[in-house]
Amino acid sequence: MEYITVIDKQFKVSISEENILKAVQNIADRINNDLQGCKPLFLAVLNGSFMFAADLMKRVNIPAEIQFVKMQSYEGISSTGKIKELIGLNSNITGRTVVIVEDIVDTGFTIKSTIEQLIQKGAARCLVATLISKPEARIYDVKLDYVAIEIPNKFIVGYGLDYNGFGRNLKHIYTLCED
Ligand code: IMP
Ligand code: MG
Repeated sequence: MEYITVIDKQFKVSISEENILKAVQNIADRINNDLQGCKPLFLAVLNGSFMFAADLMKRVNIPAEIQFVKMQSYEGISSTGKIKELIGLNSNITGRTVVIVEDIVDTGFTIKSTIEQLIQKGAARCLVATLISKPEARIYDVKLDYVAIEIPNKFIVGYGLDYNGFGRNLKHIYTLCED
């Protein structure tokens, strides 16, 4: 199935499941090497990261914990615009090495805001593991420690990523066809 339709738009397969899993193995190897002895706490940001988090954690072979959190969006009442609040974190992270597990870093706003809130809650250090990065779309300056795959600034679905709620269950990643 090279082409698929999600809701009203056509997408073409761009990264196969096989290639996704190779890239995930690659960052798992680096994490296993870098974070030995740190007992990291992985924080997977729902919904988009659920498949990536599962495949990554199966390949992490050092002692580690995983929890699932969400970034809840609010329309700011002031002129400062959007606000994203981290919800679902119910344990003490003081002094911990935290690894944020994200589906995609686009402008960088979400990840920047996540890091700030985790540091404020006492994390000793915050590392970022993202399945996808779109470097051309970056507005906020953020350091990404583990990037599985870099892509051009195009809209994608599949492997956890959605278009208006649909397409998360696709096992490959698909790119929007422009016509
Ligand atoms: P950022 O805050 O601009 O970095 O955006 C991050 C969020 O935008 C991600 O967590 C996704 O929910 C969404 N997003 C950005 N690009 C895409 C895409 O190509 N497909 C699906 N969701 C995307
Ligand atoms: Mg996300």
